[in-house]
Amino acid sequence: MKWAFRILIATSTVLVVGLAILLVPPHLQTRGISPPLPTDDELQALLTVEDGPTQIHIVRSSQQPRPEFNLGHSAVVIEWPDGKLFVIDAAMDREATLEFARTIALVSPPKGPVQFHGTIADRLGEAAPQISGLGFTHLHIDHVQGIHDLCRVRGAGASVYRTRLQAQEHNLHTREGAALVEESCFERITLNGEGLLPVEGFPGLGVVALAGHTPGSTLFAVAVDGKLWLMSGDISNQKSMLLSNTGKGFFYSGLVVPENTQRTEELRLWLARLDARPDMEVIVSHDFAAALASGLEDFNPR
Ligand SMILES: [Zn+2]
Repeated sequence: MKWAFRILIATSTVLVVGLAILLVPPHLQTRGISPPLPTDDELQALLTVEDGPTQIHIVRSSQQPRPEFNLGHSAVVIEWPDGKLFVIDAAMDREATLEFARTIALVSPPKGPVQFHGTIADRLGEAAPQISGLGFTHLHIDHVQGIHDLCRVRGAGASVYRTRLQAQEHNLHTREGAALVEESCFERITLNGEGLLPVEGFPGLGVVALAGHTPGSTLFAVAVDGKLWLMSGDISNQKSMLLSNTGKGFFYSGLVVPENTQRTEELRLWLARLDARPDMEVIVSHDFAAALASGLEDFNPR
């Protein structure tokens, strides 16, 4: 019995030390990153930019009913009058989607099977060659893996735009996605500077380094038809949690995804305040229902 107790203590100690070695560095890294946010006036100025985009749609790739909500994987596609497209996030192919669902099921069982609607490339169909720019709200694999398929249908000729933080600051969960971007067929362009960063060739689009969820988490703000859409990635997983300033809890933010929780709270409050304005709407990556309710329509290739 004494030996059994000693083995239990030794095993627990190894586990705790192992977790600390794995998680303390990314926590220290992310806590040191809080880039400045733009003012309301700076964001609002996007609404008056000339030659801005005329269309914005959600491109749904997959969805899985979960106890707390339906977990969606999607992209947002924005179109300018000359036909060029900017795509935000790439979701995953079928195999990676199913593998991702199996991993999540280890922690919490789903309420039903994954519904796979197609890769982002499949869903864009004949419009895919019009892609001229891409961006990622962050480099977690469930937002990036579909870049393979986008390269297959688009080929070289488009550029991935990222902030300096997204290009340079990685952790255990973003290295794989960062490598996929680096090795992709697309040109990489780093947007230097702070606050609201313009993207050359895409009037009406602004990029903001957020951090919080990952060191390189990024907001994409775009004005379409008098409304400013704010693609906030995974700062919250559900819009209702963003609006009620509810965090993801210690298990998620402390042990699964090392988050800067002080920063994610600051961002929730900031985004909820912007969302309350009649001319701004926050989009939460994994929450299809909220995106559709806010007026973002499904993409249908013409
Ligand atoms: Zn995600």
